[in-house]
Amino acid sequence: MRTTEDSLNEILGFDELRRANVDRCDVAFHKCEDWSLTDWATALGGETGEAQNLIKKIRRGDKTTFVKGKLVPLTNHLVGMELADVIIYADLLAQRLGLNLGALVRMKFNLVSEEKKCKHRL
Ligand SMILES: [Mg+2]
Repeated sequence: MRTTEDSLNEILGFDELRRANVDRCDVAFHKCEDWSLTDWATALGGETGEAQNLIKKIRRGDKTTFVKGKLVPLTNHLVGMELADVIIYADLLAQRLGLNLGALVRMKFNLVSEEKKCKHRL
């Protein structure tokens, strides 16, 4: 049986994310097309704000935060969960725009590497 730790150690590709992301949205929430670009962009911004809020709290020395009404330790893992939400929403927004996010990340990464004259390429 596959455990949560097993899945944390697996490498996730953009294609796998897209397939599951769109299917889950359609089945568990709503059709992806039912949300406008503004809806998706606002959701993405909200998740970015959630990650930023946790970083703000870490910066000011908070040791705990509320998650779904429950006081929990403020950890890097919590920030990571919000960053995961950012990626998930970015993928859904990209899908709504008809874009391949993985291909674009590769293209943009390599473009910046070229501009900075460094050897790193994806
Ligand atoms: Mg979130």
